[in-house]
Amino acid sequence: MSSVYNFNAGPAALPKPALEAAQKELLNFNHTGMSVMELSHRSSDYDAVHQQAKQLLKKLLAIPDSHDILFVQGGASLQFAMLPYNLLSSDKVGQYVLTGSWSEKALKEGSLLGQTNVLASSKETNYTSIPDLSNAVFSDKDAYVHITSNNTIYGTQWNTFPDISQAPLVADMSSDILSRNLDVNKFGIIYAGAQKNLGPSGVTVVIAKKEIIESANTKHVPTMLRYSTFSENDSLYNTPPTFGIYLLGKVLEWVESIGGMDKLEQANEEKAKVIYETIDQSNGFYNGHAEPSSRSTMNITFTLPNEELSKRFLSLAKERGFVGLNGHRSIGGCRASIYNAVPLEACIALRDLMIEFQKAN
Ligand code: PMP
Repeated sequence: MSSVYNFNAGPAALPKPALEAAQKELLNFNHTGMSVMELSHRSSDYDAVHQQAKQLLKKLLAIPDSHDILFVQGGASLQFAMLPYNLLSSDKVGQYVLTGSWSEKALKEGSLLGQTNVLASSKETNYTSIPDLSNAVFSDKDAYVHITSNNTIYGTQWNTFPDISQAPLVADMSSDILSRNLDVNKFGIIYAGAQKNLGPSGVTVVIAKKEIIESANTKHVPTMLRYSTFSENDSLYNTPPTFGIYLLGKVLEWVESIGGMDKLEQANEEKAKVIYETIDQSNGFYNGHAEPSSRSTMNITFTLPNEELSKRFLSLAKERGFVGLNGHRSIGGCRASIYNAVPLEACIALRDLMIEFQKAN
């Protein structure tokens, strides 16, 4: 199949212009006579790539000078450990808001390294919503408050972020970074695996307040698990994932070319609306997992009246060139991941397919 509707949850669709730009210079990058993958990471040609990706990210997300941008490997999953390694001292407590499997995994890593607490959770209602923090009790012993801004598996998202003054707010933004405007000032640390909105897998972006990096007690933390190692060496302490960072730069150039974050946010809302309206107007044939107030603009999760219909729908979708609509193996049903690079046309095609299938059944 030469062209498909890619609704993969991650790795996911990348903007075609970014891939084409990379294809064009794959064999001869910037007249170097070699691909970007073959350049030394200490060369000036690579350094330009590295700095451009950082600068563009800083500009697009309006990252203030108080925060550093780090390129780390190990995925968001390594950040689950890196965070407590750097911030969780023996007299402090890591606070976690549970909104799905990824926050559970983050909590598990924190618990391996120190004291943790569940500040709020929506587990009892099968993670259909983002819990209310109005009754949460904060303390000056809190090392940080960890949230997952978008829950890739359950299809819920924080629509507004809490103002927390007692401890740094830390967010796993793997599945919604760069999808909407953001006030980075609210966060001590933001981290995201690149493979949804930013680029290919292999790079993890960490945006961390310099003050937090500098004050972390890392005497017994392995070098590669310290934020300071990355910040002091401009993420070049060891060999960074050069091709991933290069492609991140291409993706960011694409974001800029289409008009930046305002345009992207607007487009993402429009795309999500097309599918949520189809769910809402189906008289219960399609049943959205997330409560409307917690709906994600990135991952739309829904079920059909029974397993048999669900299977038939997914099989018809596959036949018609839709890829990645199966729900995560842990909750089943269907999931449409509509990250930045998924065009509105793909969402309209999905809406049409959903309506056609409902009429026929
Ligand atoms: N957090 C979230 C919200 C995710 O969606 C994922 C991956 N799908 C992860 C963490 C884990 O990321 P990685 O595979 O990069 O470790």
